[in-house]
Amino acid sequence: MNSLTTGQIHTPTFDIAIVGAGLAGSLCAHLLSQSGQSVCVIDKSRGSGGRASSKRVEGDISCDLGTPYIVAKHPDTLALFKQLTEEHVAAPWKQLSKASSQAFVGVPKMSAITRHWVQNASFITSTRIHHLDQITQQGDDQPSWLLRDDKYQPIVIAKKIIIAAPAPQAASILASHEKLAVLLLRANQASASYESQWAMWLETEPCDLNALIEPKGSPIKRMIKDNYKPMRHSEKVDRWVIQTTPNWTKQHLDAEKDWITQTLLQAFAEITEHRVLKHGDPHRWFLSRFAENKGNNPFAWSPEHNVGLVGDWLCQGDAEGALISAISLINHIKNSK
Ligand SMILES: Cc1cc2nc3c(=O)[nH]c(=O)nc-3n(C[C@H](O)[C@H](O)[C@H](O)COP(=O)(O)OP(=O)(O)OC[C@H]3O[C@@H](n4cnc5c(N)ncnc54)[C@H](O)[C@@H]3O)c2cc1C
Repeated sequence: MNSLTTGQIHTPTFDIAIVGAGLAGSLCAHLLSQSGQSVCVIDKSRGSGGRASSKRVEGDISCDLGTPYIVAKHPDTLALFKQLTEEHVAAPWKQLSKASSQAFVGVPKMSAITRHWVQNASFITSTRIHHLDQITQQGDDQPSWLLRDDKYQPIVIAKKIIIAAPAPQAASILASHEKLAVLLLRANQASASYESQWAMWLETEPCDLNALIEPKGSPIKRMIKDNYKPMRHSEKVDRWVIQTTPNWTKQHLDAEKDWITQTLLQAFAEITEHRVLKHGDPHRWFLSRFAENKGNNPFAWSPEHNVGLVGDWLCQGDAEGALISAISLINHIKNSK
């Protein structure tokens, strides 16, 4: 364990540091900020959302390139979305809701949800956490954690850390400290179970095709009409997001983007018989979906080291699971005080 050096004395200090501002990390930040703790969230991207983020098309128009909606079945997540709906941050997508579950989207875009949740925390963007050091601060009987970026620069000091990143990315942070071997094992075991997907937006003339199409025998797994989501109406064009099947993606993971674009445009035209007016570049989600759901503990927490793990890979492997994982860990931390 190290003591503080002069440079580290100026490093900002928080009760809790959260690595990752996806659904799980942002919700942790929101719940902890409500209980009066000082919270810092750090993300390697330019904004919040992770796999529930949005892509700007032009001006103030965006579309959701990650999860197109969040299906809530659990009472805790239904309560969460009831509140978000009252706050005008989310809205039910009634066309996709069923008797046993409700589908929700962010308003005016998916990333509005995580942006809302991180607003009361300090939020550091474009910073990849790479290394953890344990340090002692003057007057403290318990050690703190110093989080460093990929250039080994000190970023923040915190008493507790929550890592809210996908398993392989969590594993590479945990591997930087020998005391975190048990958490590392859990993250390493989960790391092989990810699928990848290409996603791309495109526009057509307005048409009467359904909001959600799941074609068979195509590279395209799903086509979602983004402007059919609540509060996103457009009279001029239909704006679609198309996502590829995991199998097709696996075969074409490293293909040229131009080839992916042409192949997907052709597949779209064959299915819909509609001409594409405009499109974006395909985005490769290398860690798109966690393809395993063993129903283990929805979070991991090491009480002796004050480090925890949350995310979809610990619960259900989907967006709702990421939220349940966050709620479960924060309840655990609050109850074990
Ligand atoms: C194309 C696509 C379609 C999907 N469709 C659905 C669907 O229909 N239904 C559904 O339920 N789910 C769907 N999902 C999955 C859903 O989006 C995820 O389950 C959910 O968003 C995961 O949230 P999370 O917070 O656990 O992780 P993430 O959203 O991955 O958040 C992790 C965050 O950690 C950050 N990070 C990682 N490493 C570091 C580091 N070292 N330092 C700093 N920051 C770091 C990342 O930038 C990211 O913002 C889909 C995902 C994709 C990509």
